[in-house]
Amino acid sequence: METLQEVKRKVYQFGNKSADGNSKMKNLLGGKGANLAEMSAIGIPVPPGFTITTEVCTEYNKLGKEAIIELLTEDVEKSINNIESIMGSQFGDSENPLLISVRSGARVSMPGMMDTVLNLGLNDEVVHGLVAKTNNERFAWDSYRRFIQMYGGVVLGMKPKSKDDIDPFEEIMEHLKEKRGIELDTEFTVQDLQDLVYDFKDAVKKRTGHDFPADPWEQLWGAITAVFDSWNGNRAIYYRTMNGYPADWGTAVNVQAMVYGNMGDGSGTGVCFTRDAATGENVFNGEYLINAQGEDVVAGVRTPQQITKLGSQRWADLAQIEEAERVANYPSLEELMPSIYEELKIYQDTLEKHYRDMQDMEFTIQEGKLWILQTRNGKRTGAAMVKIAIDLLKERLITEEEALLQIEPNKLDELLHPVFDPRALKMANVIAQGLPASPGAATGQIVFFADEAKMYKNTILTRIETSPEDLEGMNLAKGILTARGGMTSHAAVVARGMGKCCISGAGALKIDYKKRTLTVDGKEYHQGDWVSLNGSTGNIIEGKVATVEPILSGEFAELMTLADKYADMEVRANADTPKEARAALNFGAKGIGLTRTEHMFFEIDRIRAMREMILADTVKGRKHALEELLPMQRSDFEGIFEALQGLPVTIRLLDPPLHEFVPHQLATQKELAEDMHISLAAVKNKVAELEEFNPMLGHRGCRLGNTYPEITEMQTRAIIEAALNLKEKGIVAKPEIMVPLVGTVNEFVEQENIIRKTAEKVFEERSEHIDYLVGTMIEVPRAVLLADAIAEYADFFSFGTNDLTQMTYGYSRDDASKFMSIYLEKGILKADPFEVLDQDGVGQLVKMGTERGRSTKPDLKVGICGEHGGEPSSVEFCHSTGMNYVSCSPFRVPIARLASAQAAIRAAK
Ligand code: PEP
Ligand code: MG
Repeated sequence: METLQEVKRKVYQFGNKSADGNSKMKNLLGGKGANLAEMSAIGIPVPPGFTITTEVCTEYNKLGKEAIIELLTEDVEKSINNIESIMGSQFGDSENPLLISVRSGARVSMPGMMDTVLNLGLNDEVVHGLVAKTNNERFAWDSYRRFIQMYGGVVLGMKPKSKDDIDPFEEIMEHLKEKRGIELDTEFTVQDLQDLVYDFKDAVKKRTGHDFPADPWEQLWGAITAVFDSWNGNRAIYYRTMNGYPADWGTAVNVQAMVYGNMGDGSGTGVCFTRDAATGENVFNGEYLINAQGEDVVAGVRTPQQITKLGSQRWADLAQIEEAERVANYPSLEELMPSIYEELKIYQDTLEKHYRDMQDMEFTIQEGKLWILQTRNGKRTGAAMVKIAIDLLKERLITEEEALLQIEPNKLDELLHPVFDPRALKMANVIAQGLPASPGAATGQIVFFADEAKMYKNTILTRIETSPEDLEGMNLAKGILTARGGMTSHAAVVARGMGKCCISGAGALKIDYKKRTLTVDGKEYHQGDWVSLNGSTGNIIEGKVATVEPILSGEFAELMTLADKYADMEVRANADTPKEARAALNFGAKGIGLTRTEHMFFEIDRIRAMREMILADTVKGRKHALEELLPMQRSDFEGIFEALQGLPVTIRLLDPPLHEFVPHQLATQKELAEDMHISLAAVKNKVAELEEFNPMLGHRGCRLGNTYPEITEMQTRAIIEAALNLKEKGIVAKPEIMVPLVGTVNEFVEQENIIRKTAEKVFEERSEHIDYLVGTMIEVPRAVLLADAIAEYADFFSFGTNDLTQMTYGYSRDDASKFMSIYLEKGILKADPFEVLDQDGVGQLVKMGTERGRSTKPDLKVGICGEHGGEPSSVEFCHSTGMNYVSCSPFRVPIARLASAQAAIRAAK
């Protein structure tokens, strides 16, 4: 086998309008590296550089630091020479120095998760060269102190490890500010910055025992290997696990010439989007800062200005800033540097057309010259995702198939959830206004620290600003609120990616972490107080606000119609009540794939009759109790059939263990004994009798119907009578009666006989008839193995992948949570198999069951009704097995419809 050392290319160069790689090479060059190459090749001015491949990262994890440096030395030296010749400066030269950046870049964007080092190549001599070259002493020393700070943190391990840990560099700076009586970094003098450099280096020596490396090459290797190491850092591992990215992907390393946005008032830096990432509106937008480095824009310390005049005016409106003040203090780039703005506008247009998707770009202006540092498909909210795809389609930039494939099915979820009730909003007490960073509605209790986001059921994580360390807490919180930061701050970008409601830059909030208080206009709010965030307007509201269902029209409806045009597998819903059934239809379900009838027995007025049935000693006693239940069930079924208006409804016979129905508290046991005129001891005995060691594997499913056939009779009668009653009203009902937990052919046949006999009896009584099916769930592995024999009798199969997963893995559904998170953390499992269908194992059974069933009955109708029926990758798998339909909870129906269309499009490719 070829080894990396012998054959594979390890380094790819780009710059000067040419490149070795291209955007198709994301797996090898990482998203950032591939895009830099592509941009350079299409004539976008990117600073020259090179990318070390992700394969080298994987090799690094095996071979270690020394071996990798040896392996790369020749290529890296050659590539640095290339940058030197394009930029006309030398790495490590004290007269005309080239400074470089070293950044991570995995195949997918992982914002803030891995490490970056800027200004690399500076030392005590080179800094003088930078002073001479830029004629800007302050800038040169500021770059040097930033470099030591970043390098110290990233490469030398001096970053604080927890919120109680102190950042030694920040501490030194705070000390100096105090001594000098100043507040801002920008107030440091050149002398201050020089002092900081020496104090920082002292701190490094003290903490690490070594001098700060002065040799630029030593610095470079340190940074490259630190970026490789950051792939296995805690933040990156958490992010990877959360998103299901495998550890063996690795990260690429991008080494690139530095360009500076902080070389005075002719320089600047910014972030821009070709369309609005929050709403999807087709307007060029973004933020920039004059005389700043890229990190200043996202750090949220200074308030960034808008790129376009329109954006700037909208922003000023929200912030209640007068036009004259806006123009004087916050002019847009369009107004301040019109020719640079025009150039940037051309590039954004070129890049969006080239990538045929909304772009998120970073740029720097160095003394009047525009450089594009990065472009990528922009993260966006669910609403923006739908609007952009439909708009790009209408603009003929993409095809229908591409529009459908551009949508992330799970992100549709954001559009399907409630928003604030406009009537409740009218009465809301808006206490402050921030930037509408990520839309949606969130109501929750205030917490101030990310690790406390679990403290209440619904929390609003309230921070001065957020950082990548807060990610886990942001994920758990219902909404995110920050006092600082713009629309591209960490909080805003991450929240949009998560589809989480966020308000950023609410400057009126005074947050005191020590006291855990939030003060607005003199009023103090404490941890645990309720607030509501309107992520679409930026309003921060006191207390709870009621919500209403979203409106599913416009682009969303267009998208769904398009999805149905391409989908060849139907989507049904799991619904137990007429209300749920109506919701499912509203979301476009083509029928009900699972009605769990036991949910109908749990209602308070029914459970008594149910208990009497279970406690009855004789068949007669049981039948008597069932007679009471019959009309209740019948009316439930009528409601569902009526809602479905002729679409099929799969009704599953009683499934859960009987002990779930009996009372376990003494008071209720006494009540029941009185009601039934039996002794308390008799009730207690029966309860004890029904107790099981393994209820999940116990007396449930068809085992109930086979031991108490009266239950099956009653349920069948209720279904058939309901359907006949509707027929009288001119409404067609299509019941599909489903037997649960079948493991042997006889288990099914016994039940089928009862069902068919009961149905015949009802038809006779009513002298009327309807069509119905009798099928089975396939959820016990043995049923898969005997699927050909079961299909002799069953009209349809529906895979119950919840139980099938439980029984295939041997993980109890009730207890798996105890070890699941650890299994996921350790990578023993890649995903929770109860959420994402295990295609390798359980999937084989699904495939085999379908094939065996259809070997007997080629037209056998097959579906799935486990939770996986609404999970996109599982839906795609179901499509590949040739299923007729998937069934999922009502809110997931649109997701499944889209996933079904995507599966069909991919399969046809
Ligand atoms: C299943 O097992 O997948 C199923 C749908 O049934 P339940 O979840 O009710 O056991
Ligand atoms: Mg089941």
